[in-house]
Amino acid sequence: MLFDAHNHLQDPRLDPWRNALLASLQRHNIAGLVVNGTCEADWPAVAALARDEACVQPSFGLHPWHLAGRSADWLARLEDALVEFPSAGVGEFGLDRWMQAPDVPAQRECFLAQLALAVRLDRPATIHCLRAWGMLEELLRDATRPARGFLLHSYGGPAEMVPVFARLGAYFSISPWFAHSAKAGKLAVFQHVPLERLLIETDAPDMAPPKEAGGELLPGGLNALGNLRLSLELLSRVRPESSDELEASLAANHRRLFGTGLIPESFASA
Ligand SMILES: [Zn+2]
Repeated sequence: MLFDAHNHLQDPRLDPWRNALLASLQRHNIAGLVVNGTCEADWPAVAALARDEACVQPSFGLHPWHLAGRSADWLARLEDALVEFPSAGVGEFGLDRWMQAPDVPAQRECFLAQLALAVRLDRPATIHCLRAWGMLEELLRDATRPARGFLLHSYGGPAEMVPVFARLGAYFSISPWFAHSAKAGKLAVFQHVPLERLLIETDAPDMAPPKEAGGELLPGGLNALGNLRLSLELLSRVRPESSDELEASLAANHRRLFGTGLIPESFASA
């Protein structure tokens, strides 16, 4: 069974396809998915999915692209959502110097606040990072980090920082995006990740594979959950383990990071 460590199934662009995607999970051998909110406005949709679908583990966070729209009491609202859903993670949050006009001080402040919440409530944390690897390392090194570790989703950082982040508690996930030939170098970085820190994700509806990779593209070029299999295949290309071995490790890793003892039945039995 496969576990999608990171997606945005609540995204309104998936409204016409969401039911079909959920119905396709069994066919694709997907036992569980972590659905990530990115701003206060989409948290209710993530919560609704978690209430309706046993396979959905919610995660609530404030993404660096949405900092400007945050309310004065966003952090209290985030804590409320986490308390309501004892299996929920914190994320997607993070650091981004690739976006236009990043507000770095606000990014640092919101990053540290969400990391601290994950530590205090013992929740899995999911971190986004683009072109801010040095700052990420500095903030993680100096902060109290979640005892269970944290996910660097769709890891696109340098190979030499893998052991540094691994020592700090990082898990690293790969998305179907790495099937783009221009990303071959980033894909190769995954051979340096310790086996017990690997995860796979779709990041659907974003991070779609290129057409020639043979995955499933929704109208508009959107990424589909079934492409999780492609993430596993990509990983197999650069790893020495057999794909059975990889699949077993990925499932164990997913449970170790995202399991809480309060996880949905479908996670526990898969
Ligand atoms: Zn994402």
